[in-house]
Amino acid sequence: MRIKKEVLERILELCRQAYPNEIGGILLGKDVVRDFILLPGEYYRDSIYMQLHNLPIYPDAVGTFHSHPRGLPVPSQADLGLFAKTGREHLVIGWPYTEENVRAYDSRGRRLPLQVV
Ligand SMILES: [Zn+2]
Repeated sequence: MRIKKEVLERILELCRQAYPNEIGGILLGKDVVRDFILLPGEYYRDSIYMQLHNLPIYPDAVGTFHSHPRGLPVPSQADLGLFAKTGREHLVIGWPYTEENVRAYDSRGRRLPLQVV
């Protein structure tokens, strides 16, 4: 998975601002993630799944991102269900929201190499 550095930095900044709440959204781009859509509204524990499942379709969406305010960037059981339904590349961002705590996964929850470009 490839993502533009400025896009990843913006996402990390939003994660920090939202802490301790979880945030999430949709990643956009074809070969490289070059933009994202932050889901609107307030975020609470586990609410992100419902919102992601109810999203309209974006033609250049590649997958999702969301933060893990309380844990490692490892997908939960609910995350795996989400990944399977919402695209081919997903980011999970663990506290303290630095680049080292960002992990990429495919739609089946397998780790993908993450390249920041
Ligand atoms: Zn999660």
